[in-house]
Amino acid sequence: TNPPKSRRIAVLGARAVGKSSLVIQFCENHFVESYYPTIESTFTKTIRYKGYEYSVEIMDTAGQDEYSILSSHHASSMDGYVLVYSISSRSSFDMVKIIRDKILDFTGLESVPCVVVGNKSDLSIQRQISPEEGKELGEQWQCSTIETSAKHDENVYCCWFLFTDSEEQTQVLKLDF
Ligand code: GDP
Repeated sequence: TNPPKSRRIAVLGARAVGKSSLVIQFCENHFVESYYPTIESTFTKTIRYKGYEYSVEIMDTAGQDEYSILSSHHASSMDGYVLVYSISSRSSFDMVKIIRDKILDFTGLESVPCVVVGNKSDLSIQRQISPEEGKELGEQWQCSTIETSAKHDENVYCCWFLFTDSEEQTQVLKLDF
């Protein structure tokens, strides 16, 4: 067996889209109704994917805005980003675009490995972003997209698996050059 590959992932998005809930559901398998971290916290979890073990370090940026995150020393040491919006909030969807632009500005890259996650898929009555709109954004950025519900534990695993996938794709593209 191969030694685990280590990966550092930052979870970014507007306030209250469910970033902490997704990370806690994924790493600790439960849903927290209210969680108010005052500082960023890092979680780790080992996942197995396509025969490889990944030791995934997830930086939950709750309690900060995107400006302080991206100006911090963390931003340049990330392997990739999980960009989260809520399907019930148009402004959080717009925020994902702003945050990605900031990451590109900050890193000086033309694209970064990321997965776009539309959380709170259980709130279908309050939906403001259609699944198609989410997919279109992913096609535009050439990254994976997925709708999740941290509350109902739907597709939460997938965001990190998709992440490793999009990262592999990025590496393949890099090798082509
Ligand atoms: P953060 O600020 O992005 O880290 O968001 P939180 O994880 O603190 O969640 C904000 C609020 O949304 C909390 O009240 C959560 O219980 C709620 N929440 C998080 N995920 C979901 C979800 O999938 N469905 C629903 N209905 N509520 C959620």
